[in-house]
Amino acid sequence: MVSIKNIKQKALEEHIPIIMDDTLEVIKEILIKERPKRILEIGTATGYSSICFSNILDNNVYIDTIELDESRAKEAIENIKKLELEKNINVIKGNAVEILPTLEEKYDMIFIDAAKGKYPIFLEESIRLSHKGSIILADNILYKGYVMSDYNKHKQRTAVNHLREYITMVTEDKKLSTKILEIGDGLAVSRLLV
Ligand code: SAM
Repeated sequence: MVSIKNIKQKALEEHIPIIMDDTLEVIKEILIKERPKRILEIGTATGYSSICFSNILDNNVYIDTIELDESRAKEAIENIKKLELEKNINVIKGNAVEILPTLEEKYDMIFIDAAKGKYPIFLEESIRLSHKGSIILADNILYKGYVMSDYNKHKQRTAVNHLREYITMVTEDKKLSTKILEIGDGLAVSRLLV
């Protein structure tokens, strides 16, 4: 029997990065207040966050969630099936950079939680897929949880530069109202004003 607790535990054991508890608490408050009907998630992993979102909303939601890694996407689909959430959560396998431009319908909330280096591209597409009042969330925006290793130094610097670019974009764009929250690994909360 799979449960949300097992999915979380397995992800932690396998070092699959999943949403932190305090970040989830803040998003829970937003979900309860906003009651989004359609959510887009970029970065499914094994389905933990999308299953949490659906549970918080008493399954009165439809979530499209995109995952690049074949085996994680497969595991997410299995988890969702076992929890009988197929009508609520749709896993789209593939690279969000390629998939996002093919999407047309608007979302009430978008959760960006995938490749840091792609956050600026994800933001542009998220704005296109939003309507007035939609909320765009970006996790790990302050990147303080990153574990430095020599091999990753360059990769990390590039990612940090793209995250800074994301923060500049959301804070300077007059169409957006944004708060950068210092919870978890940093969460950017933007609302489309027009
Ligand atoms: N949201 C998940 C949760 O909290 O349970 C965690 C997602 S994890 C932080 C990020 C995921 O994004 C990884 O599983 C990774 O394979 C995926 N990913 C990275 N780049 C991607 C891309 N360009 N398109 C789609 N998924 C991507």
